[in-house]
Amino acid sequence: MRAIRLLEPKKFPELCEIPEPTPGPSQILVKMTAAGLCHSDIAVMDFYAEALNYKLPMTLGHECAGTIVDAGAGVKSRVNIGENVLIYGPWGCGHCRSCAQGYENYCENATAENITPPGLGHDGGCAEYFLVDDPRFCIPMGDLDPVAAVPLTDAGLTPYHAIQISKSKLEANSVAVVMGVGGLGHLGIQMIKQMTPATVVAVDISDDHLALAKTVGADICLQSNADAVKAVQDLTHGQGAEVVFDFVGAQATMDLGAQMLKMRGDWTIVGIGGGVAKAGFGVTPYECRVTSPYWGTRADLIDVVGMADKLSIHTETYNLSDGVEAYHKLHDGTVMGRAVLVP
Ligand code: NAD
Ligand code: ZN
Repeated sequence: MRAIRLLEPKKFPELCEIPEPTPGPSQILVKMTAAGLCHSDIAVMDFYAEALNYKLPMTLGHECAGTIVDAGAGVKSRVNIGENVLIYGPWGCGHCRSCAQGYENYCENATAENITPPGLGHDGGCAEYFLVDDPRFCIPMGDLDPVAAVPLTDAGLTPYHAIQISKSKLEANSVAVVMGVGGLGHLGIQMIKQMTPATVVAVDISDDHLALAKTVGADICLQSNADAVKAVQDLTHGQGAEVVFDFVGAQATMDLGAQMLKMRGDWTIVGIGGGVAKAGFGVTPYECRVTSPYWGTRADLIDVVGMADKLSIHTETYNLSDGVEAYHKLHDGTVMGRAVLVP
């Protein structure tokens, strides 16, 4: 089968021909119908493969939608062959206290037991088929279109989880800043608008991405520079925003975000752009909370799938054979919404 594989760190992946996988006793074989490309894959190419010691070659792809086509003897009776599913990505052990609470994204045994998400440590879904380790990671998607739905598994799930953390701070007359209107940001804006009464200020370096922000409901759209800080301060009468969601996480956005925060505000750093937050007494406004949430829970994903009809999910589709080109576009910042491979 064909698969988009990372062969070496610091290089773009390549289209390869590899054997079709066969499910072990507890595994499920999924025929991929859509795979979303996330900017985290670019980070993996840049430095994570080296830093995290991923075993290469590795098939990329942690946003996965597909059809269950086979399963190992131990789980065959627990899955519906032919069912269309979305794959919950941050796999956990299922047994530790975090997993028991639903926080498989913060599994306490993942590192020790070498449990990794598909495409982020072992073979992922940018391929014709891929293996899922447990039926609970398969979330039924009903009649949803796989291309539109697949971004929900990360580009939707991650902002949703981040918004849940800060929802109580987003009351009437509050302001939420969204930095970075890409795959995550364009869904994050819509979720904030639907889940809270906050005014949403979108910040990006690209006029096209700011236009997308406007289309999906941002109240105010600003170029990512010092003027954006002044605009947020003016809007909030010098108080700052209740929450800054940073879907870039570069030093440039963190330096701006730091100046937009209100006392008791939340500074939520989702992007893994390598920036470092300066926080401390007299540095950050009083009682600010700095968080770096990772992905979301299985319950969150079920909620997000339930919201699908109310979200305008922007996608660009590519064949598997154009997958490498799609990654180049994602790297260059020219993808609008989510790039989705259709194997
Ligand atoms: P994307 O490439 O689709 O979007 C990034 C957006 O940021 C683009 O609109 C780009 O124009 C904008 N941008 C770039 N530099 C900017 C700057 N200086 N100021 C303002 N905007 C800027 O990326 P994505 O797939 O949406 O991912 C966003 C980030 O979130 C990435 O760093 C990714 O690795 C990370 N991520 C984190 C998690 C998590 O669990 N924490 C999950 C998924 C993705
Ligand atoms: Zn991702």
